[in-house]
Amino acid sequence: MPWRQALTDDHHKRREKKLWRSRQQLESPQAIEVSRNGKRCINFCSNDYLGLASHPELIQASTLAVQKWGVGSGASHLVCGHQTSHHQLELELAEFVGAEKAIFFSTGYMANLAIPQSFLRRGDLLLQDKLNHASLIDSAGLCRAEFKRYRHNDLQHAQDLLDNSQAERKLISTDAVFSMDGDQAPLAKLGTLAEKFSTVLLIDDAHGFGVLGQRGSGSYEAANLKPNEHRLMLGTLGKAAGSFGAFVAGDTPYIEHLEQYARTYIYTTALPAPVAEASRAALRIIQRENWRREKLSELINLFRPGIEQLGLDLMESSTPIQPIILGDESRALQASKILEGRNIWVSAIRPPTVPAGSARLRITLSAAHEKNHLNALFEGLKEIKERLF
Ligand SMILES: *Cc1c(COP(=O)(O)O)cnc(C)c1O
Repeated sequence: MPWRQALTDDHHKRREKKLWRSRQQLESPQAIEVSRNGKRCINFCSNDYLGLASHPELIQASTLAVQKWGVGSGASHLVCGHQTSHHQLELELAEFVGAEKAIFFSTGYMANLAIPQSFLRRGDLLLQDKLNHASLIDSAGLCRAEFKRYRHNDLQHAQDLLDNSQAERKLISTDAVFSMDGDQAPLAKLGTLAEKFSTVLLIDDAHGFGVLGQRGSGSYEAANLKPNEHRLMLGTLGKAAGSFGAFVAGDTPYIEHLEQYARTYIYTTALPAPVAEASRAALRIIQRENWRREKLSELINLFRPGIEQLGLDLMESSTPIQPIILGDESRALQASKILEGRNIWVSAIRPPTVPAGSARLRITLSAAHEKNHLNALFEGLKEIKERLF
């Protein structure tokens, strides 16, 4: 079959299965009340958990930085693109998360790709949770190690796989907060497992950084841990920090090794300094304004009983990610449409992003939501419960 014809066929099949995805155009800055298709709506699907994406301090920091540093960094970090803004951000991130050192990557996706590729060799073992983010899963493809997955949060299964492995180096990696379910990995136990096997645990804290822990430094803090020789941490800056980019933090030899060997760090242009400056501004707000995390907790504590009252099923999540499982794809799409009719934006998440039969509304809460936003959402979900169940 000619290539073009095959693509068209695939397109039709995907549409029939209700799996075709289309982008919606956002016509305003990222915020709680946004404009899409010419209409205002309330947004319950961004990862802007603290409401920082269009915060005036981030805007000012990046504006000043454009004037001071220009736009492009002009080269990769190891050639001549590593500017003072990048460097300062790395120092501040390391201090904030209590690590010896941190390295700043262009995206979380790229940072995840770098880690097995830099540390593991042929014959080593990469061990991951089944529900890990696509970027962790994809990282297996960039290295020669054997790749095994344990059942979701199943420590016994993880331990069995470690016990049965002859590999010299074994890297365990997990989402700290699972991006589609909102539940958390048992970090204390995984940390103990890593120590027992003299190996390293990598946590992907894309959804915990800024949100979890008293100070907001993430899932390790919430579990009373810090990055160390058995524990690496990856954080992203495009979610709660409202900016863009990512970092890996840990003991100095590990971070220096990434600087030497991480292909997605070495062979790419350094991020623009204004983006790094926006992240630095976000870091100051995260440290200064505890009320954002407290407000998020209050909203989560209002949300869950509200949903239970409606008779809808919740998942085991105490994070701002609060999915409502609807089952098949078409029901999830209909639910999203019902909310759209009420000017509420929650996207339907379908396979292959989530397992078949678990299509869902992935509702995310932000410190910038108010009670009236939640009430509007409850009304919409009530209609969904009445019409679709
Ligand atoms: C979003 C996300 C990433 C990717 O981070 P980017 O900076 O957006 O590339 C990695 N891991 C998890 C768990 C994520 O949710």
